[in-house]
Amino acid sequence: MSTWFEAGQAQLDEIAHLMDLDTNVHAILREPRREVTVSIPVKMDDGKVKVFKGYRVQHNNALGPYKGGLRFHPDETIDTVKSLAFWMTWKCSVVDIPLGGGKGGVTCNPKEMSIGELERLSRGFIDALWQYIGPDKDIPAPDMYTNPQIMAWMMDEYCKLTGHYHPGVITGKPTAIGGSAGRTDATARGAMHIIEEGVKHLDIDCSKATLAIQGFGNAGLNIARLMNSIHHCKIVAISDSKGGIYNNNGLAPNEVAQHKAKTGSVINFPNADNISNEELLESKVDLLCLAALENVITKVNAPKIRARMVAELANGPTTKEATDILFDKDIFVMPDFLCSAGGVIVSYFEQVQDAYNYYWEEEEVYEKLQKKMRNAFQTVLSESKERKVHMRTAACLVAVGRVAEAMRLRGWA
Ligand code: NAD
Repeated sequence: MSTWFEAGQAQLDEIAHLMDLDTNVHAILREPRREVTVSIPVKMDDGKVKVFKGYRVQHNNALGPYKGGLRFHPDETIDTVKSLAFWMTWKCSVVDIPLGGGKGGVTCNPKEMSIGELERLSRGFIDALWQYIGPDKDIPAPDMYTNPQIMAWMMDEYCKLTGHYHPGVITGKPTAIGGSAGRTDATARGAMHIIEEGVKHLDIDCSKATLAIQGFGNAGLNIARLMNSIHHCKIVAISDSKGGIYNNNGLAPNEVAQHKAKTGSVINFPNADNISNEELLESKVDLLCLAALENVITKVNAPKIRARMVAELANGPTTKEATDILFDKDIFVMPDFLCSAGGVIVSYFEQVQDAYNYYWEEEEVYEKLQKKMRNAFQTVLSESKERKVHMRTAACLVAVGRVAEAMRLRGWA
């Protein structure tokens, strides 16, 4: 079976063929420019030293410095990091921000670590990698199981090592030390703008639309809140790792969130039926939001999907075969690297504000985010209509085209 990274390479090969991509550019884009693996010794609270493996992969920086999150996860491997770095290149390009693709991670279980151990690990990661990153080189950000506090420690460590105040070396920081307003729900807010354009395209009345949401963490909860409070959509189904709930009359996201905070899951929510994650995916709704895991719609369940549109907030939730099946069924899919780009766009805004040492009001951030997302959607939609391909292929064509042009102009191939 091919790895996640190899699956990405295969997708690039297809796009290269479709657009008749220069073979030299294609060869360069198939591999990351740099893969760094480090050992990070951390003194644990019991006095023993534990050595963690850390990774940073830099895929392509033709459009600008590498950009991408850092994950602290027990299953982290160089392959997942490589694959995510690869997709970051296309994510930054498709929304037209002057950044390249990178990603990082540490194999660890932060849930079993004390605050002190986490701080020493975060600082150790920067001690091992600081020469490879920088505000004009590579800018990490939070991702799975990392957060603004971890970003604050990392930024501080980098500043100590370089002897200069460089808040723009890391984004997703707390606002008190150079973070941007509007970062917390930026991914969901960006996805909301893509959905707004999608419903217009399909001529769906947003205020009457029904929604099912898989995953109820940062992305899932915030998209539920935004679609419900701003667009008055009816959220009929929500799930998390333990299962799902369904109520045809609608679920109030904040009440479900309170129930989850109290009980640890959305299941057994009063006045709702418990359903499985499979049932949620196959429910008859206008919009299905995927905000949990990769590979949840495959060739097995794709024929049973009944939503009119699918918004991918998660990374890689629909396999390639499933995308083709949904396209044949006339289900409109808004692909992950376009739909979930709100976070990296606001990260880019954060970097710009840090460089100026001048910070914008929340409204200004929101307005600029909306413009970027809408423009990106319309560009991809035009490409999809012109070439008669689905939105994922169209988004790849736009993204690869921009990177290839930058490489050509810079004389790389
Ligand atoms: P999170 O950890 O806050 O939430 C994940 C949610 O998914 C949790 O509610 C969890 O219970 C649920 N989940 C886990 N396994 C599940 C399963 N088998 N079935 C159903 N639900 C399950 O994570 P997040 O930040 O919300 O990220 C979700 C997805 O969105 C990930 O793929 C992530 O890479 C992607 N994403 C997030 C952001 C962001 O800014 N948060 C940005 C880009 C992409």
